[in-house]
Amino acid sequence: MPELPEAEANRRRVAEQCLNRTIEEATLGKDISYIELPGDNELGRLAGRQFTQTHRHGKLIFAGSQTGPWICVHLGMTGKLLPFDADERDAPDYTKFLIRFEGTRRLAYRCPRKLGWVRVVDSPGEEIERIGFGPDALDMSREDFLNVIGGTNGTIKGALMAQHKLAGIGNLWSDEILFQTGVAPDRTASDLSGKTIGDMYADMRRILTRVCEVNADYDDLPRSWLIGSREDGAKCPRCDGTIRKSKVAGRSAHACDRHQT
Ligand SMILES: [Zn+2]
Repeated sequence: MPELPEAEANRRRVAEQCLNRTIEEATLGKDISYIELPGDNELGRLAGRQFTQTHRHGKLIFAGSQTGPWICVHLGMTGKLLPFDADERDAPDYTKFLIRFEGTRRLAYRCPRKLGWVRVVDSPGEEIERIGFGPDALDMSREDFLNVIGGTNGTIKGALMAQHKLAGIGNLWSDEILFQTGVAPDRTASDLSGKTIGDMYADMRRILTRVCEVNADYDDLPRSWLIGSREDGAKCPRCDGTIRKSKVAGRSAHACDRHQT
């Protein structure tokens, strides 16, 4: 499921290929059951406008302009924002939402599975507040991280994935952060020392920044990371331990049975 770095890679594609072009029409795809998409009035608001800027908050991607409106996109489990040119190819399969810009440029929201959505909103700030998301994981201060995450009376993995505490981290990158800090995912967050939580904050920033730098292309990440060994029984890429899969905070956690304590 896409998290902060994957959403950032999608935002970049939109920023590079879809800004400052007049929108002629926004339409919905064919099979649009089980997914929240804009109604006719919202679609109509986009016609004649341009996107002049993009924004990302956690896993949410926005494109719009100073005076609005904006599209707000959640990628769900498998969604992607794909710019393309209509004279070079057709819209991808599973396109649920399509923007036709002047000329041949198009922007498709492709989403083969459920849970994703597209909304037309007045401003990113209002929408983020309405949903109740915490600060973006790359914008949160060290002090807030120590208080909010370190003060949680549940598992540390659950705290890292709680979008109302900090936005953008899900199953994959919470596992990677805990692996690199050396903390078992089922530890109670408030039992961890201030030093450990501070180290985790630094690791979180370093990991998310690195994945953003490689546009979430996992083949470009170091072999010493967990991401290439996320399999029950795999050899730990850091120590003599074994990667074990378990259920933590309702999700499948992968962690080393030796160096994560
Ligand atoms: Zn290990």
